[in-house]
Amino acid sequence: MQTPDYQRLDRAHHLHPFTDFKALGEEGSRIIERAEGVYIHDAEGHRILDGMAGLWCVNLGYGREELVAAATEQLHRLPYYNNFFKTTHPPAVKLAEKLCRLAPAHLNHVFFTGSGSEANDTVLRMVRRYWALKGKPEKQWVIGRENGYHGSTVAGMSLGGMAPMHGQGGPGVPKIAHVRQPYWFGEGRFGEGRPAGQDPEAFGRECAAALEAKIQELGEDQVAAFIAEPVQGAGGAIIPPASYWPAVKAVLAKYDILLVVDEVICGFGRLGEWFGSVHYGLEPDLMPIAKGLSSGYLPIGGVLVGDRVAETLIEEGGEFFHGFTYSGHPACAAVALRNLELMEAEGVVQRVRDDVGPYLAERWAALAGHPLVGEARSLGLIGALELVDPASGERFDSARGVGPLCRDLCFAGGLVMRSVGDTMIISPPLVISHAEIDELMEKARAALDATLARLATPTTP
Ligand code: PMP
Repeated sequence: MQTPDYQRLDRAHHLHPFTDFKALGEEGSRIIERAEGVYIHDAEGHRILDGMAGLWCVNLGYGREELVAAATEQLHRLPYYNNFFKTTHPPAVKLAEKLCRLAPAHLNHVFFTGSGSEANDTVLRMVRRYWALKGKPEKQWVIGRENGYHGSTVAGMSLGGMAPMHGQGGPGVPKIAHVRQPYWFGEGRFGEGRPAGQDPEAFGRECAAALEAKIQELGEDQVAAFIAEPVQGAGGAIIPPASYWPAVKAVLAKYDILLVVDEVICGFGRLGEWFGSVHYGLEPDLMPIAKGLSSGYLPIGGVLVGDRVAETLIEEGGEFFHGFTYSGHPACAAVALRNLELMEAEGVVQRVRDDVGPYLAERWAALAGHPLVGEARSLGLIGALELVDPASGERFDSARGVGPLCRDLCFAGGLVMRSVGDTMIISPPLVISHAEIDELMEKARAALDATLARLATPTTP
């Protein structure tokens, strides 16, 4: 089959995630056929540098034979068995032990799921269960953040703060509230009614104060947990001001509320530590994980559970009525285990922190000199560019679609860079080399130039 054949069948039968089906049908899908290292190949023979590691997940890059072998061996030996009814299997046990060894010391248990969304559904059920067991069943509210992302199941969508998602499909899960996000460029610097001369650090503290105000409004005795990503990923690679997490920690220390740190993107080396929580010195009670856990080779997620919650669930719990057919799936667990072993053996996390992270940071920061770029930020191997109107230095009217235009020009130039509105984001495989970072930079700059040229061209009627 050729590209047009795939496109025709795709249009006829396939509803894609997060997609305007009609618009895609008119345009036609890109068919990605194979990949190796940091490159994907489409059906027409284009080789494209994957600046997004798939969907923030292919941390070890494509084509790792060791992961293929781990899956194959496990599929031969035991392709499926469950962890219900007092049974388990070696890959699940070994992976659980490995994860708890890599995680901060107080996280010693894991509940497996098939995805990050299921991990966050598990979080919601677990925190409410925990407080019920503690004799405080009224502690049910969970506070998330506007523009946070925690998945696409009903609970994941509800915990997340994506307004367009909330706008579809009726009311979400009750007793979930949202507070403002620590997005300096989007809401601090440019926000309406901002105090003149305020700096990002004051803004970070203000966002933490908003959390405290929400806790007081709802009542501490009604609030079960606060959930947040260390760095917001899908929201636009939003790196909080340095003041934010210490101020949030100080707020949470005053109240008896669980901290849930969603590590689905930041976990497994993205920020240069095994977990974003380590980078920011957080001590979460629960850590949802997925994506980089298996480098995306097979679907697996989970929730790492801190001692405080685990002890209560175990000692006082009785049966926890929750779980998935694919919780700890043997082949997925075997691949995840091998993935973590390879990451350890190859010093991948340390390399992000000490080598490629700083290298990318230096090169990426230089893009701030481009007339279209209002801010270039990065941490570890996650980065964002804020596109602004060169004439005013202000953000474009989002209806102009400058971000999506830049994204399409990127793709045409051989680079996957994603747009969240007019924020361009990257999250490349952690194994990317210096030379590949150089190539990424050249292609990103070329796409910015092409975008600028396109904006300067008057559209013909
Ligand atoms: N949490 C975060 C922080 C995520 O970025 C995502 C996915 N982008 C999820 C949860 C949901 O994961 P999944 O798509 O595997 O359900």
